[in-house]
Amino acid sequence: LETKEEYGHKTLAQDVMRPRQSDPLLVVLTQEGMSVGEIEGVIADTDYSGFPVVVSQESQRLVGFVLRRDLVISLDNARKRQDGVVSASLVFFLEHAPPQPFSGPPVVKLRGILDLSPFTVTDHTPMAIAVDIFRKLGLRQCLVTHNGRLLGIITKKDILKHMAQMSNRDPDSILFN
Ligand code: ADP
Repeated sequence: LETKEEYGHKTLAQDVMRPRQSDPLLVVLTQEGMSVGEIEGVIADTDYSGFPVVVSQESQRLVGFVLRRDLVISLDNARKRQDGVVSASLVFFLEHAPPQPFSGPPVVKLRGILDLSPFTVTDHTPMAIAVDIFRKLGLRQCLVTHNGRLLGIITKKDILKHMAQMSNRDPDSILFN
């Protein structure tokens, strides 16, 4: 990510983030209420490197970010090592998971693998600034919010692709569009 000059001042985070309008929705996990089986389903159905964790689908308030590989390892471990864990076991990313219910399978607590301070910009942040921070902090992805609601994600590859697209265009349109 060398050439931040390629970005005109007008490119904003919302122009680079996913999902685009026509794309499927951002795939998020909720901090409570999902089962081991449901999360394994999300892992099987997508190949994203990570998932934002939100308070609830309705609020889309960001709690943190979890890497796919950490999820895979932790769920696998829970199934192998934690007695009685099954697909219906509930998964908690909460700080204080509720006490084990009297009925129902044991719960799985995954707070430990959550990045609680993922890097975040707003949809109106100029990409020149975002790229600068990506470079300085060596980020792989960053989340995009609007008024505290999670909107999307930008990966390093998204930025590189966007830069490539821009450089194929008429230079005037890069600077002045
Ligand atoms: P990379 O961009 O390095 O391939 P990913 O595999 O994580 O990284 O992401 C692939 C594409 O999907 C990117 O365009 C990214 O913005 C988008 N993406 C990443 N995570 C999610 C997610 N949880 N939900 C929806 N789209 C995502």
